[in-house]
Amino acid sequence: MDSTEAAAISAAELSAALLMLEDPTPGDPDAGYDVAVELERQAVALGDDDLIARARFCRAVMLQRTGEIARAARQLHEIQHWAVEHDDRRLQARTHLGLANIERLSGNPAKCLEHSLSAVELLDETATPHMQIWHRSTLADALAENGDMAAARPRFRQAEALARELRLWTQLGMVLNNWACSEYEAGEIPRAREVARRMQDHAVAHGLDLGPGPLDTIGAIQIESGEYAQAERTMLVCIAQHEAGHIDNAGQLAEYLLNLSRAQRGLGATDRAQLSLDSARERCIERDLHGLLVRVHQEQAELHAARGEYAEAYAMQKTFFAAHEELLTQQQQANALTRHARFETAEAREEAQQFREQARRDPLTGLRNRRYLDEELPALVAADPDLSVAIVDIDHFKRINDTLAHEVGDRVLVRVAELLDTGLATVAATGFAARLGGEEFLLVLPLTPVAAAAAKLDAIRRAVADHDWHETTNGLPVTVSIGVAAANVSAPRSHTAALHAADRNLYLAKQTGRNRVVPGPA
Ligand code: GH3
Ligand code: MG
Ligand code: MG
Repeated sequence: MDSTEAAAISAAELSAALLMLEDPTPGDPDAGYDVAVELERQAVALGDDDLIARARFCRAVMLQRTGEIARAARQLHEIQHWAVEHDDRRLQARTHLGLANIERLSGNPAKCLEHSLSAVELLDETATPHMQIWHRSTLADALAENGDMAAARPRFRQAEALARELRLWTQLGMVLNNWACSEYEAGEIPRAREVARRMQDHAVAHGLDLGPGPLDTIGAIQIESGEYAQAERTMLVCIAQHEAGHIDNAGQLAEYLLNLSRAQRGLGATDRAQLSLDSARERCIERDLHGLLVRVHQEQAELHAARGEYAEAYAMQKTFFAAHEELLTQQQQANALTRHARFETAEAREEAQQFREQARRDPLTGLRNRRYLDEELPALVAADPDLSVAIVDIDHFKRINDTLAHEVGDRVLVRVAELLDTGLATVAATGFAARLGGEEFLLVLPLTPVAAAAAKLDAIRRAVADHDWHETTNGLPVTVSIGVAAANVSAPRSHTAALHAADRNLYLAKQTGRNRVVPGPA
């Protein structure tokens, strides 16, 4: 076996190992991170850029799951950039999914939805079955979180059907759990019950353990349905499972304890409920879970009321309201800040665009200026062999300035510019007029061979001469001379050669009596 063959085999092995991390089932993210780092090292040793990018993606996702959201987001953006440049749709889809998760965790449901949509739109035949299912389910979650359960349901249904068809049972369980959870959070309790029932049936049929997450969903639904004894049992199993095997990264235990307490209050077991609630509160304070703490206060008020401790209930209700208000203010401020930042960048972009635009216009006439021409004309000439250019010069302009006034001269310039601009618009819709300087203008006529251009330009010349100049010059006539040239006057085509030819023709027009158009190669 030669060395390239050995490398090819280990590249395939490496790819398979990466797939195990890319198409994830929940596991310990710290261990996953170490695996990703090792796979990245191997990919670097192979010098395989695709594998390196995939390994980095796995590392970023694991980072996110250990709670390092900001770093993970930065890395995912970098990887996405790479994937776009290398036209790697599968990796693009995966990075969008990763960013969708990050936006959801950061409390930006709208941005989460945007990324989730891209994560589905980018699915093609290179996507794995896992992606086909999971990306749709994530999009459904995002739609639900944005308040659109009606749009979420068909995606959940699609993800469920795909998982059944492909017999991916663990994933099917995850899809059903997310669906049930979304229905519950939307207040659709009967629908939530129905989906949770299918999730339980599925787990029994395939000998799957429902993890703490699904159990918490079921417990919450049971509480809403008044099935408190069942809910307490569900939540006790949920908490036992969580403590047995799960790292409490996102502080889920506090949430489970709160649900347990609510079930116990429903049962009338207020002492047990108080103990559970105290544990939940401790956990919230320890983990700085402000949002959840607000709900603990609310539950405490309910619990006092259930015990007939109305003064305490009232005091706790006030604590709850204050904490709730504070939370809302914080969220509003955070939202306002992002909105403001977004507005500022949009405005800066607009201002820059406006500045760019202004810098490319002549302030007196509003026509394009020389700078614009320098930027645009070379490409136009290179792209269009039938393009013609014309230099227009006002005849005896000095006389207008001298006999009337410089200001009158300016008004004549503005008027002529208008006549050229409107005249050109009617004969060459995609053309434009520019002021070269002084009383000289350039007209650009795309897709117009020089003979046709000369005829059209003669109409413009006549329009200037026939214009009623009484108001502007007190009757002093204003005429223009025009030199025309084809862009293909030189080979290879060059805009400077075309301009020189037009200028020579303009000189001829002046020499032969002014107020005329002279076309053609000199
Ligand atoms: P010809 O028919 O040969 O073109 O004669 P002309 O008088 O138009 O040509 P010349 O180049 O001798 O004069 C151009 C004059 O245009 C000179 C200058 O003072 C005047 N001019 C240049 N820019 C401006 C401007 O912005 N406003 C005004 N009012 N006059 C300008
Ligand atoms: Mg001149
Ligand atoms: Mg002139």
